[in-house]
Amino acid sequence: MYTNYLIIGASHAGLSALDAIRRCDPDAAVTVISAENTEPYSPTALPYVISGKTQPERTGLRKSDYFENLGVDFINGVSVTRVNTTTNEVMLVDGRTIGYKKLLVASGASALIPEISGIDEVDFASIRTMADAQRIQKQSSRADSAVIVGAGFIGMHTAESLFKSGLKVSVIEAFDQVMPTSFDPQASELIKTIFVENGISILTGKKVTKLIENSGKKIVVLDDGETVSGDMLVISTGIKPNIDFLAESGIDCKAGVIVDKRMRTSVPNVWAAGDVASCSQFFSQNKSIGGTIPCATEQGRTAGMDMVEDRYAREYPGNLNMNTFGFFDNFAFSIGKVTSDASNAEVAIQTDAEKIRFSRFTFEDDVLTGVSAINKRLDPGILKELILRRTDLSSRKNDFIKAPLETGRQVMRELF
Ligand SMILES: Cc1cc2nc3c(=O)[nH]c(=O)nc-3n(C[C@H](O)[C@H](O)[C@H](O)COP(=O)(O)OP(=O)(O)OC[C@H]3O[C@@H](n4cnc5c(N)ncnc54)[C@H](O)[C@@H]3O)c2cc1C
Repeated sequence: MYTNYLIIGASHAGLSALDAIRRCDPDAAVTVISAENTEPYSPTALPYVISGKTQPERTGLRKSDYFENLGVDFINGVSVTRVNTTTNEVMLVDGRTIGYKKLLVASGASALIPEISGIDEVDFASIRTMADAQRIQKQSSRADSAVIVGAGFIGMHTAESLFKSGLKVSVIEAFDQVMPTSFDPQASELIKTIFVENGISILTGKKVTKLIENSGKKIVVLDDGETVSGDMLVISTGIKPNIDFLAESGIDCKAGVIVDKRMRTSVPNVWAAGDVASCSQFFSQNKSIGGTIPCATEQGRTAGMDMVEDRYAREYPGNLNMNTFGFFDNFAFSIGKVTSDASNAEVAIQTDAEKIRFSRFTFEDDVLTGVSAINKRLDPGILKELILRRTDLSSRKNDFIKAPLETGRQVMRELF
């Protein structure tokens, strides 16, 4: 089998690239391969599968006839085990070989499992795929309590889902705050308070030193000797790009597939996008994994257009933090720098802890570089645009701080 465009991975990055390719090249042969035996779905829905709020069949990213209507071959339930960039072929786990003209690696990431003493003897779950969510859902229906290691975005979401399924939930985090890569300490403290007031136990600043399984109970030993136990254990301590199958491909990888601003890898007819790609950040040239849907989608689009022809090429602006987080009827988001130690940084914080409203704006040389907010009437889309456009707010900064929604809209109207 031979195809013009071969896409490995049918999630946010792969599908966004596919849309871009089809828009620019309507008739070319395109093949999409997914290791999972499901229709494409968004991992963001997995916590809701765990709580039972939604069903797997309702998490689809595309309708089932989507590929057929586009004239695209969709091969699912089969993983790519090897890529040969000399012969331009990929090998599948079932022995098939597919030749390609251009290849996109959009294989995403898996849960990163830390090395903890005893981990091999304990039955634990992690959450990245539909199969993971279904397994956790099944375990939770037989459990009364759960321990979650890691209070990042996914760990906190999972904690709420399990709690809403009726379990007693404890969360353990090594950093001194919850969601350390998404929120500053003050916002994190407010989020933590809401979780605790709702009945979830959260221990921050505690490292797990050992895991023990005893008569079905998972016992988590902390660095101060304290123990926390539960009927089930979920480990949510970060992600690891899916690059094992590229080991002998000659494609440069280092904590992800290294790409430039057009998502090109070190091999001329191979691109990478999404959680597997290591690319420069919006605020620095240091490479990182985006780790969010906005990054994956934009990288996929950039790669797809670049794959078609040079004239469609454009540069990806770099990974910019953007998280939205709904929890216990509250809404928080953060965009751009979570904190800044730049000497020119100026921070404006407004807080009403009683009603749990919070906002934090960071400016550097009168340019907005970061926002985080809880339960504030703000427009994340506009704030993201102001950051991406490096908009000079010097003449409006005071108005912006007083009335960010209205002033932000006014500035955007003028920019358009
Ligand atoms: C529980 C959870 C909640 C999240 N919530 C949010 C959120 O609210 N907001 C947000 O912005 N982000 C969120 N994220 C992160 C977001 O889902 C990811 O950033 C995004 O899915 C990345 O998309 P991707 O296409 O790069 O990779 P993935 O979504 O990881 O998909 C990669 C696909 O490639 C397939 N694949 C892997 N290896 C192979 C192979 N060898 N052969 C064939 N196929 C392969 C995989 O099976 C998978 O289907 C969440 C993630 C999780 C797990």
